[in-house]
Amino acid sequence: CGIVGYVGPKQAADFLLEGMSKLEYRGYDSAGIAVFDGQTIAVQKSVGRLNNLEMKLGSSLPKGNMGIGHTRWATHGRPSDLNSHPHTDCSGDFVIVHNGIIENYLHLKEDLIAKGHVFASETDTEVVAHLLEECYQGDFEAAVKKVLTIIEGSYALVFMSKHDPGKIICSKQDNPLVIGLGEGENFIASDIPAIINYTRKTYILSDGEMAIVTPESVWVMNRQGVPVSKKVFEVNWDA
Ligand code: GLU
Repeated sequence: CGIVGYVGPKQAADFLLEGMSKLEYRGYDSAGIAVFDGQTIAVQKSVGRLNNLEMKLGSSLPKGNMGIGHTRWATHGRPSDLNSHPHTDCSGDFVIVHNGIIENYLHLKEDLIAKGHVFASETDTEVVAHLLEECYQGDFEAAVKKVLTIIEGSYALVFMSKHDPGKIICSKQDNPLVIGLGEGENFIASDIPAIINYTRKTYILSDGEMAIVTPESVWVMNRQGVPVSKKVFEVNWDA
């Protein structure tokens, strides 16, 4: 239901939690974050209010300069800790958050189980993480592109990989996704209120676009990798 992402010089968890609180008004049943310090991806998630997640995290938030967060409105799989996002593959090398519904997930899940994948949740979303692991052959970007040709349905998806520190990839189809353009840092969110305290310069992604986001750059392209030139949308209202 709500998505946030950060890559830059600051501690990602601070932005993730604040951004998620700005998206609470949309309603949700669980929440989670993944923070990457360049070596380890720390995932913490909890059913219930954002407060429950914060209690679990305690006073020492996971350290790292990039991360993704999610508030979930369950569509496939009941609200539970395990069904909350972010979701990972078997290796834990890939981590994703997702808004929307992957329509062909059952078929994909059967395929992946036959290939030996073990699933931790009942969600449609987790399939995407395992599919990414399956498609990965040394190039994170290429693997995401491949995944996007296979999945069907509606999504705002954000991907992070242990193999590619400092890079977040996202894409959307029928669910909103915006990128907040900062100075030496960039933000991702499903809606503008999450980022408005940090930047007013944004790219509003269109269906079928994907973006490669690093602290210094945002490359927007279509799912085939053809660059798209985006106009900066300047937010001139207050959240
Ligand atoms: N379909 C996904 C799930 O049930 C995402 C739901 C959402 O948009 O929050 O976990």
